[in-house]
Amino acid sequence: MTLKTFATAIITVAELPYAYDALEPYISSETLHFHHDKHYAGYVAKLKELTTDTRYSALPLEDIVRQSDGAVFNNAAQALNHELFFEQFSPQPRHAPEGNLRRAIELQFGSVDELKKSMTSAATMLFGSGWVWLAADNDGVLYVLSKPNAGTPLTDGLHPLIAIDVWEHAYYIDYRNVRKEGVESMFKVLDWAKVEQRYDKI
Ligand code: MN
Repeated sequence: MTLKTFATAIITVAELPYAYDALEPYISSETLHFHHDKHYAGYVAKLKELTTDTRYSALPLEDIVRQSDGAVFNNAAQALNHELFFEQFSPQPRHAPEGNLRRAIELQFGSVDELKKSMTSAATMLFGSGWVWLAADNDGVLYVLSKPNAGTPLTDGLHPLIAIDVWEHAYYIDYRNVRKEGVESMFKVLDWAKVEQRYDKI
């Protein structure tokens, strides 16, 4: 008798928390269909394929990201990055942070607009594909990070707060080569209430 040591991977595709056309005109239904159903779901499918019946299969996604490298890391990080990305938007977003997060942003960046400018600039400067993050350490100190490919703040021991996807698949259908406009459109539907929830959980 063979003892089955490892479970089937528990990772699943998180449903969009809004309709495909809910973020128009900033992010189109066509972009969300491709981005969520093809790109994100593709990373999840590949991760399942790579981790079923391995030591990773029963781990929460965050732990797979922290413990892996190579193809497993790339697909696990992309799965997690996209969960954070889609979840942070809303058709009725709160347009500004409040409370502790607002105070930290004003202390470190001067204003929310300055933070957005800093992140948009990092996104346009990032060569090739990757992510720009607002992240925080355990003390709530904020960092803007620019990461190539599947890069995530988790590998720096930081907590992700805002995920800006600057892979071409995130904006090319709607904004073609103009990455800056694609990023600015993401901030239009960013729900600061969700960013605050992430910050207040630290
Ligand atoms: Mn993406």
